[in-house]
Amino acid sequence: MAQLHACDHHHAAPGLAERALLAELDAASRRCDRAQEKLTTGRRRVLELLLRAGRPAKAYDLIAQFGEDGRPAKPPTVYRALDFLERQGLAHRIESLNAYVACRQGDKPHVAAFLICDCCHTSREVEIGGPPDLIAAGDKIGFAFKGVTIEGHGLCAECGPG
Ligand SMILES: [Zn+2]
Ligand SMILES: [Zn+2]
Ligand SMILES: [Zn+2]
Repeated sequence: MAQLHACDHHHAAPGLAERALLAELDAASRRCDRAQEKLTTGRRRVLELLLRAGRPAKAYDLIAQFGEDGRPAKPPTVYRALDFLERQGLAHRIESLNAYVACRQGDKPHVAAFLICDCCHTSREVEIGGPPDLIAAGDKIGFAFKGVTIEGHGLCAECGPG
């Protein structure tokens, strides 16, 4: 894909620092308990990696970073954990990047809407009311939505022409 804009500034790492990270992981664990699910060590580790990255991460990067001792995971471990996190609403898949991000919007059902910066590769989840036309069209033909993801590409305020 052609680069639309190349900025020469330093892109700050958007990931969470230690204390916020632990708080987030504990909240996720409680949320799973409430849903009578278990945030197993493997699932927790994948969520931790997503929170640390703070930007969309590819499954193969998660596989490579999985072991605390630097050893990669078995791919199915990571794919199954991602699947679980997605079902619990703790992570979203961003189709256009084939990548995953942690969701920090809490446990209320929501449309996952992302603003994706094509320069620094951060993504920001924003709250929107929903795509009413799409939902209305689905309702009309009895389509049961499992989720809706909206992805907008462009440049974030840091990278844009200002
Ligand atoms: Zn979300
Ligand atoms: Zn940016
Ligand atoms: Zn940039």
